[in-house]
Amino acid sequence: IRKLVVVLGDQLNRDALVWQDFDPTQDAIWMAELPEESTHVQSHKQRTVLFLSAMRHFAESLRQQAWSLHYLVLGSHDFVGFEQALGEFLSHHQVGAVELVVPGDYRVLQQIKVACQQNATPLNVLPDIHFIAEPGEFKTWLAGRKKPTMEYWYRHLRQRTGILMDDKKPMGGKWNYDADNRQSFGKTGPQAVPAPLMFTPDAITQQVIKDVEFHFAPHPGKLAEFGWPVTREQALAALEDFIAHRLAKFGDYQDAMWPNQAWLYHSLLSVALNLKLLNPREVMAAAEQAYQQGRAPLNAVEGFIRQILGWREYVRGLYWSYMPDWLSMNALNAQQDLPGFYWTGDTEMACLKDSIGQVLEYGYGHHIQRLMVTGLFALLWQAKPEQVHQWYLAMYVDAVEWVELPNVLGMSQFADGGLMASKPYIASGQYIDKMSGYCQHCRYKPKEATGDQACPFTTLYWGFIEQHQELFRGHPRLGMQVRHLDAMSTEKRQLIQQKILQLHEKLA
Ligand code: FAD
Ligand code: SF4
Repeated sequence: IRKLVVVLGDQLNRDALVWQDFDPTQDAIWMAELPEESTHVQSHKQRTVLFLSAMRHFAESLRQQAWSLHYLVLGSHDFVGFEQALGEFLSHHQVGAVELVVPGDYRVLQQIKVACQQNATPLNVLPDIHFIAEPGEFKTWLAGRKKPTMEYWYRHLRQRTGILMDDKKPMGGKWNYDADNRQSFGKTGPQAVPAPLMFTPDAITQQVIKDVEFHFAPHPGKLAEFGWPVTREQALAALEDFIAHRLAKFGDYQDAMWPNQAWLYHSLLSVALNLKLLNPREVMAAAEQAYQQGRAPLNAVEGFIRQILGWREYVRGLYWSYMPDWLSMNALNAQQDLPGFYWTGDTEMACLKDSIGQVLEYGYGHHIQRLMVTGLFALLWQAKPEQVHQWYLAMYVDAVEWVELPNVLGMSQFADGGLMASKPYIASGQYIDKMSGYCQHCRYKPKEATGDQACPFTTLYWGFIEQHQELFRGHPRLGMQVRHLDAMSTEKRQLIQQKILQLHEKLA
């Protein structure tokens, strides 16, 4: 074998650099279903089914071209991880070089490096041209600034690519329409949200479902309703469905939540994007075209494009700039264990019960549920960042470490001490009440911090401010909350502390 191309489960794009000078007469492909990828964090069953089914479909397309493919099927081998499985292959075959697009997980890259080193096989790690940022572009941008603010990175990429630009000016005259994107559904809730396109499992997916039930029976998550796209054709259909039916209201309701409404106006495209079944350029072009054709307003289109061109590219840049240090950061010295109900959804808190229940059902939660319900509670609870990271990486179908880790440790848990966010995203239950319909049917009251009906978010919120008051005092917005705390009676502050102790006894 002149060149062995290693394809990982989140590298299912045929426009990747590894294919550019692939010669089927001399080169071969290596893919493997490895248990460690589902067990290094206890992966949700839907997450494992998604990756394995998409890999098997991709392998099928390679076989149809009669390309030489070495594919290890789960259960047909005893290997645990990449180091062993690839190492074994290299020790039994004459391989000139291994070629690989840079993985989405630092850990996997290290394992592949070791396998190659141990067999003295040269390894070529190629840039991932799926992303808009060119190799080194983020590092150069980062080097010139004190604080890497997402908004400036986003503007930089818009200027460089011309996406949503009118010559040198942002389309519509403003860079950002976020202020228009904060509507809630009021007290009555959303009206007739179009259901997203889901895909009935074909024979390949059905077999994967059986395999996953067999090999990972105790893992979290349900498989009753698996409908994620696992091929490029399905991914394109999912994109079309979003653009036609939900994009127009994406902006208005981007931050809104409602019970039993898992999808709302979100795109659900992170899955297809992260497996590289979709290219971000085609996704943004489809959204921009919908604006040009008058099918979606600018606040929706700009808001959507900002998530992909701004946030998605930004977190990837940060991941590769700060790994592996990021893994051990704990700036707020959070030392609690993540409560057990995160794995079962068994809690009386209506917002958490719904958000976690939905994750168990589908492996999905939209951004505000991740940030301001599950993430916020973990932050206020002062859960160990490492445990929070492991939970997110395990539970969401779209979780790949490069995108999950900065969002969790940086944006949500402030474990990086402000590298990504200027302050911790903290709020009391009143924020959840304003943005959702959860509190209407909850046994707790979002305004109350003490007493039998105190909302645990609100109690923990004041406890958090109390504990970190010196850190927050000088901050323009959080400083005001410290002054509210200063104005609280000593008795009330003591009652809050007692309530926190009770919560720890009850929920830990
Ligand atoms: P939409 O709301 O329709 O957004 C459109 C697209 O923008 C998404 O598909 C996604 O590709 C991109 N996007 C939006 N926000 C972000 C962001 N903050 N970072 C990167 N890309 C973004 N996203 C993942 O893809 N995988 C994860 O494991 C993940 N973990 C997260 C953990 C936490 C604590 C938080 C706060 C966010 C996380 N996100 C993650 C980002 C975001 O929540 C998801 O991308 C989004 O909810 C996916 O659903 P969607 O496709 O319907 O998104
Ligand atoms: Fe969540 Fe508190 Fe509202 Fe209940 S009252 S749904 S716990 S925010």
